[in-house]
Amino acid sequence: MIEIDNLHKHYRAPGGGEVAVLKGITLRVPAGSITAVVGPSGAGKSTLAKCISLLEKPDSGSIRVNGNDLSLLSGEALRRERRAIGTVFQSSALLQRKTAWQNIALPLEYLGVVPRDINKRVATLLEAVGLAHKADFYPTQLSGGQRQRIGIARALALQPSVLLADEATSGLDPDATATVLQLLKQLRDEFGLSIILITHEMDAVRRAADAVAEIRDGQIIQQGGVAELLAQP
Ligand code: ADP
Ligand code: ADP
Repeated sequence: MIEIDNLHKHYRAPGGGEVAVLKGITLRVPAGSITAVVGPSGAGKSTLAKCISLLEKPDSGSIRVNGNDLSLLSGEALRRERRAIGTVFQSSALLQRKTAWQNIALPLEYLGVVPRDINKRVATLLEAVGLAHKADFYPTQLSGGQRQRIGIARALALQPSVLLADEATSGLDPDATATVLQLLKQLRDEFGLSIILITHEMDAVRRAADAVAEIRDGQIIQQGGVAELLAQP
């Protein structure tokens, strides 16, 4: 479960002054559900994503994962809690010189997990994303959709309870998009993940999301079930 409350963030504008980018974002994503965050370019989606993945520090407000307020933490405590959030980006950002297996193993190696447990965990993750047979392939030898599924497996290596998918299907062809969305739904159900799907693709929202929040000019202007929101003119 992730709870975002009254999140504010501003940037300094080039040439002085300040731009308020997030103006009090409040969002709940229960465990075992997918919430899509949609909105036009410049609305603040990426900034929200960066705050959630702890790449940016909000000015005020809170982000709680399973009750822990991440915005209050720093140093070692923050590093520990940030494992609760897995992130996949548009380009899966896999290391080109490492195989699918090695890419997924990386976060576990950094953490000092013993090799036997790494082997087990990577095997499970490859299985979960349906790519056990591609373990020894390099990213360039995989399709875009397969790379994204490896990116998802890597994001899940440290067993997060929240998965942030930032334009994770943008740039994929329809088949690959369908496979990735299907995988997200499967992970939602299997692991009870809270999934935040940041996207500009309404078709993806329709097919995968349980709820949708529309962000415009730094504020959530409406949120609710997918059917009601998409039914509006
Ligand atoms: P979206 O992802 O919805 O397109 P962003 O979060 O990327 O929106 O951007 C929202 C606003 O914040 C934009 O007006 C953008 O110019 C501004 N912005 C984003 N990052 C920075 C930055 N590092 N410095 C200054 N302004 C920024
Ligand atoms: P489900 O709720 O089971 O995911 P979908 O309508 O999302 O149902 O898709 C069912 C299957 O049909 C998907 O696994 C996908 O392979 C295929 N499919 C549906 N729409 C498309 C599309 N636009 N492009 C490619 N494949 C599609």
